[in-house]
Amino acid sequence: MLHPTSPPVLLTADSQGKITEFPELEAVGMSNGHYHLPQPDDFIPLPEGSELFSLPGRLPVGWDPRENEPVLLDENPNRKGQPVRAVAAFMAPAYTSVFNCGYQTQPAAPTLPLFAYTAVGWHDGSFWVTAFRSDPDKRQDHSQYDQKTVVRKTGKKLKANRNNRLIQHLGKCCLTYGCPAARNYFLDRWEAPLPTSPECNARCIGCISLQPTGVCSATQDRITFVPTAREISDLAVPHLMQAENPIVSFGQGCEGEPLLQADVLQAAIVQIRSKTSRGTINLNSNSSLPDSIAKLAEAGLDSLRVSLNSVQEIYYTRYYRPKGYTFADVKQSIRIMKENNRFVSLNYFVLPGVTDSVEEFETLCRFITSCKPDLIQLRNLNMDPEWYLNILKFPKDSVSMGIHRWLQSLKESFPDLQFGYFNPQTVQPLSSE
Ligand code: SF4
Repeated sequence: MLHPTSPPVLLTADSQGKITEFPELEAVGMSNGHYHLPQPDDFIPLPEGSELFSLPGRLPVGWDPRENEPVLLDENPNRKGQPVRAVAAFMAPAYTSVFNCGYQTQPAAPTLPLFAYTAVGWHDGSFWVTAFRSDPDKRQDHSQYDQKTVVRKTGKKLKANRNNRLIQHLGKCCLTYGCPAARNYFLDRWEAPLPTSPECNARCIGCISLQPTGVCSATQDRITFVPTAREISDLAVPHLMQAENPIVSFGQGCEGEPLLQADVLQAAIVQIRSKTSRGTINLNSNSSLPDSIAKLAEAGLDSLRVSLNSVQEIYYTRYYRPKGYTFADVKQSIRIMKENNRFVSLNYFVLPGVTDSVEEFETLCRFITSCKPDLIQLRNLNMDPEWYLNILKFPKDSVSMGIHRWLQSLKESFPDLQFGYFNPQTVQPLSSE
């Protein structure tokens, strides 16, 4: 992987969002509120399809190489007396952050929306982020989508399936939200989404489909109906039979918790498997209901992805605010899938300073030893880091290992454990039927 030959310099933005480099200072990373000077090999080129944000009410912090310390900029260095903002990158899928963007939040600053804020700098005419590619799979790479083809094929499938509410719902996900999974469905390839549940039995602080407090807005609306097993299988069967490397996944960003519709999921899985054994049937879930998991495993569910912000129960509970279930239920769901020889991934929300803290690392090692997941998906936490740290009451003096050392230590401790970003094929696809 390409790295810059010297530390990238700081980026700042004016109040119109115009971004400029400030060569006097080097780009800084932040982890649990502490400023760090990233090393050149922490940086990779900004991935195609990423976005840059100027952060309201956040003053940029850069590193002074002469004094070897962080420096706060409280005005625009290029236009004296003018306001200045910090700049962060929201990276394309398949990349995991090493440091968050370095800034100082001003009083009365608004809560940042539900995105991840990775440190970004400027070097040799281009943008560089502190990150690494965590999955070689190109299924959601920007380069894989031609919008004209997406619109044409989506229109054709919507016309041919006027009476299938689920396919019509995915039409909005694809054309309005640009959901990569929905686009891949309409392009007849890879992983297709099967949202089913308007309700949820958790109240995650950073829920992307429901933000009742209005602190920030949800990034997409929740599905408003429960599709029938027939609508689900009419979508899934042709995809599993025809698509390249086919996966169909319950549990999407545009819904609540699919396990609350376990009876429909069970009936749909039975219908699907009565027509094809090709491809993988996956469930993305908070895994709160072990009995329902057992029912779905028996019906033919191939893999489970368990969403976790932390494996420390206190932080899990402060974030998920579960209704009627406990962290023990989540672990029991994993054990049931493993007892049925099914595949289990952890959808592990990575936040530098929390994920790589020594306490979280040690607890994760015990969790892996007792629950035996197969894969950890290294997903960036999409939330205002300071809001999250406050909600968790996370100790400011917590010692962190650094994301690179944390990952290396995990790989050494668990050589058979896989790492990635996406749900893998767990059922080797037969040739298309
Ligand atoms: S489990 Fe999912 S749908 Fe439910 S509150 Fe959390 S993020 Fe939202």
